[in-house]
Amino acid sequence: MKGSLLILLFCFCFIGVSFAAADSAATVQKTDTAIKKFNYEAATQAYMDSIPQKDKAKSDAYFEGGYWLILWNLIYGIAVVVIFYFTGIAVWLKKLVTRISKNSNIQNFLYVAIYALISYVLSFPLGVYVGYFREHQYNLSNLSFVQWLREEMISLGLAVVFGSLVIMVFYIFIRRTGQNWWKWCTGIALIFLIIGALVAPVFISPLFNKYQPLADTKVKEGILSMARANNVPATNVYQFDASKQSDRISANVSGFAGTTRVSLNDNLLKQCTPQEIQAVMGHELGHYVLNHIYKMVAMFLIIIFIGFAFVNWALNKVLARGTFRSMIVDLKDIAGYPLLMLIFSVFMFFATPVFNTIIRTQEIEADMFGLNTARQPDAFARVAIKLSTYRKMNPGYWEEIFFFDHPSGHNRILEAMRWKAEHLNEGVGKQ
Ligand SMILES: [Zn+2]
Repeated sequence: MKGSLLILLFCFCFIGVSFAAADSAATVQKTDTAIKKFNYEAATQAYMDSIPQKDKAKSDAYFEGGYWLILWNLIYGIAVVVIFYFTGIAVWLKKLVTRISKNSNIQNFLYVAIYALISYVLSFPLGVYVGYFREHQYNLSNLSFVQWLREEMISLGLAVVFGSLVIMVFYIFIRRTGQNWWKWCTGIALIFLIIGALVAPVFISPLFNKYQPLADTKVKEGILSMARANNVPATNVYQFDASKQSDRISANVSGFAGTTRVSLNDNLLKQCTPQEIQAVMGHELGHYVLNHIYKMVAMFLIIIFIGFAFVNWALNKVLARGTFRSMIVDLKDIAGYPLLMLIFSVFMFFATPVFNTIIRTQEIEADMFGLNTARQPDAFARVAIKLSTYRKMNPGYWEEIFFFDHPSGHNRILEAMRWKAEHLNEGVGKQ
């Protein structure tokens, strides 16, 4: 009895397996013909060809100019530090802060705050060109000069207050732990990174834009449904007036636990169809579900650790040479801060491709999550085209690795069309 049951079971299993095999063979065959009918590379090219040549030339020029700006920023930064030290400003500032207070923490805070203001003024010519004139030259900004300046002043105010506070804490550890400061300061950097990630969406973003509950209930319900389906605990969807700054479309999912929120900018709502909004939201939910923020903080921390080790090594070498002897007493002296920052920015310059690759890798993951969730490959491709105003669409292989913090438009469309080709038998793509 037992034996015949086993045989029966075996038969069922066998029949089951052969059915499954036949089924998958049919699927493969069906998929094969579908792919043959739908050439995803040709479909990608068709999307690429839909961009007018003169628009492509313009966005290429804008984006490629950005490569040089990374270098000019560094060179300009070096010039600012040289001016600061070798025209007597450094000595003047040190005297000023020691006269104001006898407390070394207050002295350090004031030194960094005043240095930030001096450095902002000296960097203003490059800043105003990059942030205002260049953006207008390419029709990428909607801000008037006064509006632009107002935002600059808010950013400067935040940088002066919070930046100086962070550096003041760093110098407490530099004083207490000597040559081991860089290990301790990496830990401090982690705490500030987490505070920044939690505080920024709730307190900083509203200083620049007005956030309000999303008015369109149909769009809102669609997004919340997608969030629920992916276990994202968001109950609120906000819209914000990004159109005052530019026409760029964007959205994000931020916060954690009770503060989780989905925010869409008004350009996305105005310029995109419901399918395109779904495609974008699928991507944004991907960042949240895949815990990108935590992974990013962890990876940035490793880079900061290496960066601080480099700064420690280089700063000790420079101080030993004696060029700055009359201005910087030792590692603990706050007068060494501008030099320390300069060495760190040289490190960051060389780390640019690493940073870009960390972020781009997460963006590709979010793209994939979004395609699987929203199942809107064509809408996703159309969004990639809409993003082409400020990003080069089709860079070279290494160019993308070095300079792109998102996949290029071409590769995003290719991802979408390949996904579509593999899902044609499921009825995707009929829109
Ligand atoms: Zn993203």
